[in-house]
Amino acid sequence: MIYASAPGKINLYFAVGPKLENGYHEVCSIYLALNLRETVGVRFADELAIDVDGSISEDQLRAVPKDESNLVVRASQLVTEEIIAYEITKQVPVAGGMGGGSADAAAALLATEALVGSRALSDALTLGADVPFALMGGVALGTGVGENLVPLKMKSELHIVLIANEGGLATPAVYQRLDELRESANLVPEFNPPSPTELIAALEMGDLNNVARLAHNDLQWAALNLKPELQNVIDQALAAGALSAHVSGSGPTVFAIAKDAESAAAIASRFGKSAIITTGPSFGARLEN
Ligand code: ATP
Repeated sequence: MIYASAPGKINLYFAVGPKLENGYHEVCSIYLALNLRETVGVRFADELAIDVDGSISEDQLRAVPKDESNLVVRASQLVTEEIIAYEITKQVPVAGGMGGGSADAAAALLATEALVGSRALSDALTLGADVPFALMGGVALGTGVGENLVPLKMKSELHIVLIANEGGLATPAVYQRLDELRESANLVPEFNPPSPTELIAALEMGDLNNVARLAHNDLQWAALNLKPELQNVIDQALAAGALSAHVSGSGPTVFAIAKDAESAAAIASRFGKSAIITTGPSFGARLEN
């Protein structure tokens, strides 16, 4: 087996433009790779097999597709027509807005390239908008559909508590609800969502309070509309001392920014088993052997 790992992510900032004719939305995002990493092993095989294990719940492990619809298979198919067997070790909640499937795809791409000894023939972006960032890691500004990535500097490490939620939210449904909410409120978003210059400066300076204050997610409105109980999670995280708390991407995972490791532990203790303590940034996809 050849193994590679890749990070899950949160979006510290996520601004969404209007729906384009091709059905996509222009976004402006700050991605933060987390030290919550997925590992994918690949080997040649006679038939497709996908073993899934990891630290997420049994229900979540069962939600991972074991057939060709799994992104790891689609990633390998960019590199080779050979049949591959996979071992996926998951730490990132499934359908939680944290790019777990994208991290698996990035790790599978790298591992398959090493197995076969050649590079992918087509672009990793075809696997999903978050795959290029899972390959790159760190902290980055993403524009377009999230694929135009510019690495950013970040002075200090962030302590993050993730509060997972079992009932996943489908990303397309959250975007659709945002479009509907905006339409009924007569809100027309800017065509090119603005870049969060103040937040970028705060990250560069390691100004934690301003990072927390300026974190933002346009999709949160729609995610809360679809799952109002997430507001309670945000409120509880704040009451436990979080500097700020937001829905991660399209949700339903909530991330809280903590002052330090001690505060992260105090916030996590409010949520029992559904809380995951982590830090960021983490590095991008790499081989692990
Ligand atoms: P994103 O934030 O990139 O939109 P997400 O983090 O919300 O994604 P994922 O965990 O990537 O969600 O999974 C979304 C869906 O993709 C799952 O419900 C599942 O059906 C499918 N999927 C395909 N491959 C995988 C994989 N390797 N791991 C998890 N889900 C996968």
